[in-house]
Amino acid sequence: MRIFVAGGAGYIGSCTTEYLLNHGHEVTVYDALLNGHRTAVDPRAHFIQGNLADATTLDDAIATAKPEGIIHFAAFIEVGESMKLPGKYFANNVGNGINLAEAAVKHGVRKIVFSSTAAVYGMPKNIPITEAEVKQPINAYGESKLMFEKILGWFHALKGLQYTALRYFNAAGATEKYGEDHSPETHLIPLIMQAAEGKREKISVFGTDYDTPDGTCIRDYIHVLDLAQAHLLALENHDSGAFNLGSGQGHSVKAVIDTVRAVTGKDFKVEYAERRPGDPARLISDSSAARATLGWKPQFEDIESIVASAWKWRCAHPKGYGDK
Ligand code: UDP
Repeated sequence: MRIFVAGGAGYIGSCTTEYLLNHGHEVTVYDALLNGHRTAVDPRAHFIQGNLADATTLDDAIATAKPEGIIHFAAFIEVGESMKLPGKYFANNVGNGINLAEAAVKHGVRKIVFSSTAAVYGMPKNIPITEAEVKQPINAYGESKLMFEKILGWFHALKGLQYTALRYFNAAGATEKYGEDHSPETHLIPLIMQAAEGKREKISVFGTDYDTPDGTCIRDYIHVLDLAQAHLLALENHDSGAFNLGSGQGHSVKAVIDTVRAVTGKDFKVEYAERRPGDPARLISDSSAARATLGWKPQFEDIESIVASAWKWRCAHPKGYGDK
């Protein structure tokens, strides 16, 4: 397949691009490099630097690439920032995404696979979470993703564009070549690793009085290569809809810290801090629909191997991509 990857220089986009190339597909990466990294783009991919906001550059890029499928990773992802700058999130994650959907229709692209998020569920009542759970985002980031899912639903109904929205739980881990290098970093596993590397003084645990066995929040960590696999399966599938992607296993913040200690052999300071606003106590995915419908078979089910792959990448790339 010829596949157009918007946002292919970011964390999940770069790992997915490598996965698609390894499976014999032709990939064009389109990325503005606002947060992504040029060196995170597999050299076997075609690269076009551009922003989804620039509809003309985008249209030309799709006309040149002639893709059969599009994967859309190009979005802002910081929950905290989305609550300070909601306009930035809605303009890019919704408004600019529409340029991509329009270009897909204009150039006869069959399908878009869209990076969505467990944040569309807000504070879910039922755990594990199925796709039928009430969707009530509690931050502008989650709302922007839910809005774009709905927009894709309308493009499907009115223009025949197929779509799959993939609602990631907590993406983690790395491939041999590509990994997670955000700035600023806000995610738990890379932050703990920064503490293990001595690059930060301590890791703060946000809340110890949640209704969970050890009082810290429980999340469902899923390996980035398992996410990559799901994107290809979703492109190959001709139906439209949304799927959760998680391992189905929950790990508390304390348990993740212990795993990083065990995997790295390093000790570091842990501070028990206040709750972070807007954190649900537990988020665990029921991903049985993705398994049944897409034939998704995650390969990295244990947190140790996820953490070990992230650590291996960091040891090989002590400065990350070194460009930010
Ligand atoms: N967390 C933490 N300390 C940190 C960063 C995160 O205790 O420095 C907690 C956070 O409150 C949440 C979990 O780790 O319960 C995962 O957070 P992350 O930001 O990685 O992902 P989220 O679940 O918010 O998408």
